[in-house]
This record gives sequence, C-alpha cells and structure tokens, in this order.
Amino acid sequence: MSNQPSAKVVAKAHGLLTAGRVRVVEYGPDRGHFEVQGSAEEPYDVKVLRGVWACTCPAKLECAHLVAVKLVASGQPPLTVELGTRDPDLDALLDF
Ligand SMILES: [Zn+2]
Repeated sequence: MSNQPSAKVVAKAHGLLTAGRVRVVEYGPDRGHFEVQGSAEEPYDVKVLRGVWACTCPAKLECAHLVAVKLVASGQPPLTVELGTRDPDLDALLDF
C-alpha cells in the first residue's frame, strides 16, 4: 500500500474493532461487504471489489472504517467479529 494511514486513524480503527463495531455482511473470493458503526446514526458500508476499497462515509482520504475492515480481512488481531472460513484468494487480494 503506497500511502499508509496515520497512527491516529489506525488507533481509531482498532477502537472500532475492539468495540465490535464491524459487521461482516459478505466475504468472498473477490469481494467483501462490511458495515461499520461509526459516529453517525447509520452504519457505513465498506466494500471491496477485486482489491478496490470504498467506504460511504464523508472522509475523502482513507478512513478508520476502511482500516478496521482491512485489519479484519487480513486476520490481524483483535478479531471481534465473526468471520467464516478464511478465503486465501481474498487474503491474496488484500496483500498490503
Ligand atoms: Zn469511512
């Protein structure tokens, strides 16, 4: 990954994970769909399709929601969400 998220964003992402704010909607070989409950009333949708990430929050740059989901998808602790069987294909896609 070329531009690393700031330490502040990473810390916030870990906070989201430990608070159990990340929910897996769909997790497959070439796509993923997650919901992250941020500060807004409605959860943000975070999606990845063939390595391209998108979040519905207003942040222009990489946000804590994306970082949190990437941490989950890469299998890094702390894992507080239920993931099905790890998919090696997606793991390869998420090589960052
Ligand atoms: Zn976001």
